[in-house]
Amino acid sequence: MHDEGFMLAALRQSRKALPECLPNPPVGCVIVDADTEEIVAEGYTRAPGKHHAEADALYQIQGKAFNFLKMYVTLEPCSFHGRTPACALAIAQDSRIHEIYVSVVDPDPRNNGQGLNILKKSGKTVYVGLCAHEVNLFINQYLLT
Ligand SMILES: [Zn+2]
Repeated sequence: MHDEGFMLAALRQSRKALPECLPNPPVGCVIVDADTEEIVAEGYTRAPGKHHAEADALYQIQGKAFNFLKMYVTLEPCSFHGRTPACALAIAQDSRIHEIYVSVVDPDPRNNGQGLNILKKSGKTVYVGLCAHEVNLFINQYLLT
């Protein structure tokens, strides 16, 4: 599968987040083992106060060893500690994850590029805009701007 296919898999996950995730936006995330090009974790945003999509996926690979993981997430990981710890920090601290594909930048002024900055500063490679058209069609209805 190619990068687009993995992001579309994350988009499919994000649809499962509704309606429990509201008022948080419905976000999906998949983690891919670069050695096998297989999805090793899938996650989506749970009810407020519970796991965001990224934390949901990371939880599934807790304690497992990987050389090189790629994360595909439909919305920029959060950079601030709200009801749950910041996802961008959790990803930045995970040495197994080397590349992060973000479809859409979070328009929330508390984030809005800051999550991307945390990831880049930690030495990760960050790609933005993959499948943005498809993700925007779905997520725009739920983003509070
Ligand atoms: Zn988050």
